[in-house]
Amino acid sequence: MATLMREMPEQLDVIAVGAHPDDVEIACGGTLARLVQQGYRVGIVDLTDGEPTPNSPGPEARLAEAEAARATLGAQLRVNLNFPNRRLFDSFEARLALAKEFRRFRPKLVIGFGEKTPLASPDHWQTMQITDAAVFYSRLTKWDEHFGSLPVHAVSTQLYYSLSFHSLEAPPGAGIFVADISDTLEQKIAAVQCYQTQFPPAKSHVFTRIRGMAMHFGAAAGFAAGELFVSPRALGTRDLMNFVFPLETPPATKHASDTHLAH
Ligand SMILES: [Zn+2]
Repeated sequence: MATLMREMPEQLDVIAVGAHPDDVEIACGGTLARLVQQGYRVGIVDLTDGEPTPNSPGPEARLAEAEAARATLGAQLRVNLNFPNRRLFDSFEARLALAKEFRRFRPKLVIGFGEKTPLASPDHWQTMQITDAAVFYSRLTKWDEHFGSLPVHAVSTQLYYSLSFHSLEAPPGAGIFVADISDTLEQKIAAVQCYQTQFPPAKSHVFTRIRGMAMHFGAAAGFAAGELFVSPRALGTRDLMNFVFPLETPPATKHASDTHLAH
């Protein structure tokens, strides 16, 4: 066991899963950059290389863009599982490959697709199903014939992001919330801009939309910019006032400064 643990890579706090390089940046890049800023270790797993696409010379260019985007967000790791773009299906092989990444990097939180994306790639919906299954597979005991020496890992929490530009609805789930990305909106946009093959000057309206949606979601929760998430289970809190007033200074700090002034 000691030998095994030495061979395991350093643990990640969060893994975000996408179908194609650029999904994660567009859906939750601001949140990932914020998590890195807060000192968490963040990884990204893409199930396909996203190629071919109309303006890209090929996978090498797309993967170089993905690496530049990772560095822009500050994420510690990016893995591509190389399943085929455009014909990605929820399969045992794909579930297992993703579950192995979860066992290897032991994230506390997995973030992924939460809905179908009509008028966009069907790979997204398949990725949601693969991600749900892989979170479950990662924790299953008595399955060494598929996982070899990788120990079981129970992912504590899962969240869904939204990648739909065409819907006014949040993905279904027990709890909807907005993460504040006021400090990292520009980093998110810079990360998406790394994908020059996907967003040439003729498609610059995409950046206006990304910024507009971030400001819309942020405004709904009282932030300058935000990203929308859905929790498959109800959200709880042990600190009600901090939960409903995230921007306010806690009373302990206020009282401390009052006392200081009084003396
Ligand atoms: Zn995509």
